[in-house]
Amino acid sequence: MLQAIKLKLMLCLLFFIPLTWAEEVTWHNHQSKEWLLTNAIVVVGVGTPAEGPYDIHVVDGVIKHIEYSIENSELRQKVRDQLDVNGSYVLPGFINMHAHIMHSRAGIEMPQPYQYYLWLASGITTIRDLSSDLDRSLEDKKRSARHQIIAPRMFVYAHVFGNHQGEMLDKKMKTLLKKDIDGFKLRMMDKATFKQASAFARKHNKPVAHHVGVEDMTAWDNVEAGTTSIEHWYGIPDAALEGVQNFPAEMNYSNELHRFRFAGRLWNEAQPEKLEMVLDAMAEKGVAWDPTLVIYEASRDLQRAVTSPWFQDYLHPGLEKYFKPNADSHGSFFLGWTSEDETHWKNNYQIWFKALRYFANHGGTIVTGEDGGYIYQLYGFGYLRELQLHQEAGFHPLEVIKHATVNSAKVLGQGDRLGQIRIGYVADLVVVNGNPLENFQVLLPRDIKPITGDESTGGITWTIKDGVPYHVPTMLKEVRNIVIRARKDHAINYLVEGR
Ligand SMILES: [Zn+2]
Repeated sequence: MLQAIKLKLMLCLLFFIPLTWAEEVTWHNHQSKEWLLTNAIVVVGVGTPAEGPYDIHVVDGVIKHIEYSIENSELRQKVRDQLDVNGSYVLPGFINMHAHIMHSRAGIEMPQPYQYYLWLASGITTIRDLSSDLDRSLEDKKRSARHQIIAPRMFVYAHVFGNHQGEMLDKKMKTLLKKDIDGFKLRMMDKATFKQASAFARKHNKPVAHHVGVEDMTAWDNVEAGTTSIEHWYGIPDAALEGVQNFPAEMNYSNELHRFRFAGRLWNEAQPEKLEMVLDAMAEKGVAWDPTLVIYEASRDLQRAVTSPWFQDYLHPGLEKYFKPNADSHGSFFLGWTSEDETHWKNNYQIWFKALRYFANHGGTIVTGEDGGYIYQLYGFGYLRELQLHQEAGFHPLEVIKHATVNSAKVLGQGDRLGQIRIGYVADLVVVNGNPLENFQVLLPRDIKPITGDESTGGITWTIKDGVPYHVPTMLKEVRNIVIRARKDHAINYLVEGR
C-alpha cells in the first residue's frame, strides 16, 4: 500500500496530473492477493433488484465476503488495499457467447490488444470463441488465465464444418479433441454429418454450438441431438414451415444478397402452432438459444449500422475495409439493399422477438452473443447493442442482464462459479457510472454521449476479471491510438476514403 501511495505521488509530480487520475492508473491491472471494492450498488445477476451499497472482499480472484458498506468496519480496517467506487452500479462480468478472435481483416493486420481491449472495455470478462485460428486462441486462453495478457477469459470451441462422414469425420474430431478445446462449433453440414458429429461430441462430453444453415435439417434435429446452443436463429422457423420456404425461382443460396434478402422473409412463413411446438421441445430438451440479434440489425436499418457513432474513433481500417459492400467478404452483401428489404426485416424481427419471449416463458434458456467483426458490428459495442435488442424484444432489464450473465454461464457449464456477484464466485465485475437498469446507454463510453445528454453519468469505469481491475478509459485510449496508427499506416481516413 505504501508503495502504491509513493508511486501515485511520483506520477502526480512527474506528469502534473490530478490525484484521482493517478489513483486510477495505479489500479489498472493491479494484481493484488486481497483487496476490497467499496460502496458498490450490486446487481447479483439472477434477476433480483439492485442492493447495497456493499463492500466486496476479493481474495485470490474470488469473492470472499459481501457486506453492507460501513465506515471503519472491521473488514475495512483489516484489508488495506481498497478501491472506492462511490455508489457505482456493479454488475457481474458479461459473457459473450458468440465471439470470433480475429488477427486481421480484409488483408490488414489487426494485432491484439485491439479486440481484447474493446471486449473488456464493454464489460465482457468471458468469451466463447466459436472458430478462429484455433492454436493461437488456445495459446491466448492460457496466457489470459495466467494474467500474462490483458484479455477476457476464453472458452475455445473447435470449428467443424462441411459434409464428411465416416472415419474421416471421427479422425478429424479426434485430432481436435487432443487439444485443450472446450467444445465444438458445427456449421454447414447435412443431416447425416451433423448426427455423427453430435454423437461424437456427446460421447466425449463436449458441448456443441450449432450454426444451422439452410440445409436438410431443422431445430428438430437439434432437439434430437441435444445440441447445447443454437446460434442465430436459422433452423427454428424452418422447423415450422409448411413444406419449404417460398423461394423465387432465381434464388441462389450462394449469393449472399439472395441469402440475406430471403432470410428476411422466413419468420413470416413460420406457422405459429408449429413454431410453438418446436420452441417447447427445445426448452424441454435444454437446447439454449443464442440469437445474436445485433448481427442482423443492418438488414432492418442499414443507415444506423453504417453510421454508428463509435466508428469515428474505434473502427480499425481492416474492419472498415471489410464492411464495405463486397461479394467476397462474408456478410458484406448490401449491394442493392432496398427499403422493401428493410421492411421485411423489420417485420421479421417482430416475429423473432415474440418467439424469444415464448421460448423464455416456457422454460427456454436465452444467452447473449454478438458475432462482432461482421456486418458493421464492432467488438463490444455490438454486445452492448445486443443488450438493448433483448430489451426491445420485451425482456425486463434485469432479465436482459440475466441472459448476459447467469444464463450464459450456465450454458458454458460454469454456472456454479461465473455469472453472479455472490460469495464463492469468481470476482468478474463491471463497474458502471450510472444505472444501466434505467438506461443501457450508460454502458457506452462517456465520449459517446448517452441520448439523455447528461454528461455526469455514463461509461464503464472498471472491468474486473479474476479479481484484477482494468481501467476502461485507459484501455479505450490505447484502442484509439491503435486505430490512429493503423489508419496512418494504411492511408485510410475514416469517412473520407471510398465511402
Ligand atoms: Zn459467428
